[in-house]
Amino acid sequence: MLNLQDSALFRTENYVNGKWQSGSAGSLEVVNPSTGESITKVANGTAADTEAAVEAAAEAFKSWSKTPAKQRAALLRKWYELILESADDLGALMTAEQGKPLPEAVGEIAYGASFIEFYAEECKRISGSTIPTVANDRRLQTYKQPVGVVGCITPWNFPSAMITRKAAPAMAAGCTVVLKPDAGTPLSALALCELAERAGIPAGVLNVVVGSDAPAIGLVLTQHPKVAKFTFTGSTAVGKILMAQCATTVKKVSLELGGNAPFIVFDDANIDEAVAHCITTKFRNGGQTCVCTNRIYVHSSIQQKFAEKLKTAISEVVVADGFTEGANIGPLINIQAVEKMESFMEDAREKGVEVVLGGGRHELGENFYQPTLLANISDDMRIANEEIFGPIAAIQTFETEQEVLEKANATEYGLAAYFFTRDVGRVMRVSEDLQYGIVCSNSGVFSTEVAPFGGWKQSGIGSEGGHEGITDFYETKFHSMGGIDI
Ligand code: ADP
Repeated sequence: MLNLQDSALFRTENYVNGKWQSGSAGSLEVVNPSTGESITKVANGTAADTEAAVEAAAEAFKSWSKTPAKQRAALLRKWYELILESADDLGALMTAEQGKPLPEAVGEIAYGASFIEFYAEECKRISGSTIPTVANDRRLQTYKQPVGVVGCITPWNFPSAMITRKAAPAMAAGCTVVLKPDAGTPLSALALCELAERAGIPAGVLNVVVGSDAPAIGLVLTQHPKVAKFTFTGSTAVGKILMAQCATTVKKVSLELGGNAPFIVFDDANIDEAVAHCITTKFRNGGQTCVCTNRIYVHSSIQQKFAEKLKTAISEVVVADGFTEGANIGPLINIQAVEKMESFMEDAREKGVEVVLGGGRHELGENFYQPTLLANISDDMRIANEEIFGPIAAIQTFETEQEVLEKANATEYGLAAYFFTRDVGRVMRVSEDLQYGIVCSNSGVFSTEVAPFGGWKQSGIGSEGGHEGITDFYETKFHSMGGIDI
């Protein structure tokens, strides 16, 4: 049992219509990926439990959508404050169920909460419009109205922030929410519900159903006629299935899917800066984020220098249980994730890769993998093309700007891209020509609630964060008012 300052944050039942409920399929185990030990059992919800949650959300929508934005904002603000007050406990819950180092988990709590603060403010400034009329007996206006019940499915890699990025703008806009977190990381989601309740957010506005049968719950959230909008963060493969399911009732769909981020270092770059940001973007969350650096392209003239410095930096990355002080990366989420690294390595070894560092399991436990650096990469290796989602860094080289742009864009993904150069003309050209929703020059740091985060191509639809992140939760209504002169 975790030692929390506020033990009431340790919730193990589903939260539906303001009540804590057991799951119709019994319970499921939550396992610490670092130790392999069971943390607790939580409610195992079903499709029927999800339907009940949708009904509750539809009922709550009637009053929540009519609650003035100022009042919704005040409740959300309270929720935000309570989350920040509990950041240490919420971080500890996350480290236990997800594995990331405690400071990184606490950082995610603050990042996730920032979306609640931002959208509590933003919802007060969403306005319709008055359009110059086309006839004197008519007046033309638009209204912005909440879409209705929003179905959400979120992944395990950001067990808190992926929830708030969806739920906060939805609730701020006047929508109600039914959310399925990943079954591996439900405790962070349920603790958020506990705090929403304490903040005074009315019953039925936020509902969380945890369940092991994701496809069955997903069918309800994508096909129930009372769900107006569906929003998903996860893999592109699953996103495609869910998008197709949404077609049956023409739901509004937002998707945050996979990435394949290029990290380009031009010959005039500040190499030390590039190396430092390569480490943070590659190894954050053990490499398990959709914006993690995936393909490293270094100009051939500086390749050797860059590789040496990167090797030194990677050898300093501390792998440890997330509760150990000084840990930089914890375990991968499960054994399948480790096996995926092994299959990348097997393919690369067969094709003649040079293993500079790591390249195998870590002695700490079965879910741990060594921070790895590879060289001598050929175009046909899987690590040169696929989303790695783990702590393997592979350096490729290039000669010209044109060549590297073509390589960087040669993927069906288009989420985040990074590049380093001191040439301001190149900064402009490359930022314009990279086919990505997020382009980051001379830094790996970009996450903020005030700007839009979203993927191009098969990395997604829509944006989370910024002004854009709330617009999809409103419908636009055109009111054509006649009879003005009569
Ligand atoms: P990841 O590789 O990050 O786990 P997934 O797309 O597999 O990405 O999972 C993201 C979320 O989608 C999780 O909450 C998972 O339970 C859910 N999920 C996976 N498959 C389905 C499905 N067929 N229908 C609905 N949800 C699903």
